Amino acid sequence: MYDTTIPSTYLKIIENNYKDINKSGITNTSLSRYFNDCFSNILRTSNFFSMWVCPACFALGKPMYGWGNKPKNCPTCHMHVYQVATFQGRASYTGDMFMYASLYLLNESFKFKIKSTSQTTRLYDLEVSHDIVIEAKGSALSVLNPDGSSSKLGRAGMSRSDTKKKAFANAVEWRKRVPNGQFYIITNSLPNNLIAYHDNAVTGIYDITKKNQLDAFVSELRRVSNGS
Ligand SMILES: [Zn+2]
Repeated sequence: MYDTTIPSTYLKIIENNYKDINKSGITNTSLSRYFNDCFSNILRTSNFFSMWVCPACFALGKPMYGWGNKPKNCPTCHMHVYQVATFQGRASYTGDMFMYASLYLLNESFKFKIKSTSQTTRLYDLEVSHDIVIEAKGSALSVLNPDGSSSKLGRAGMSRSDTKKKAFANAVEWRKRVPNGQFYIITNSLPNNLIAYHDNAVTGIYDITKKNQLDAFVSELRRVSNGS
């Protein structure tokens, strides 16, 4: 029914969590719940929990592990322990989830006809038209573990310097091909120094998990797409 390229694993989760937005409308609370639940659900589906193991105990045939962030040393043998799932492991799942959840939200709530283009270009993720494109940079802020504990995952979205660098580099590269186009970045975490940021390559950056920034982004998209 929903004409989209969202893979079914992601779509099922998104549709389920979107019901809450449908019911309570768009507020800061419903937006952060929507994105956070989408992240938790995809991490759970792919078993990307936060856990640590003790290789020394495993080597002795006595598996020692725990949920959450690793302790300084193994509680049993006092040797070094390792964190299992790292940012790199989760990043592609939560990054894709952020992109698809944003796509769904924009199309369902605001009646855009935005397309996912991640299969055809690496320079941006979503396309309003050939000269209006969106790079989605989001990631989970925390992960819910099977024992009910929650682990913080450090910096997310555009608050990560490597993520920011990548997004800005994509904007510059895309700008060479479409000098007069609009290149937007959407995220779920925006440091203060990037609020209302724009330069020759980046048209605008929005934290669309905040109602006022989502509203600003939507009016901006409507304004530029009526003009093109
Ligand atoms: Zn141990």
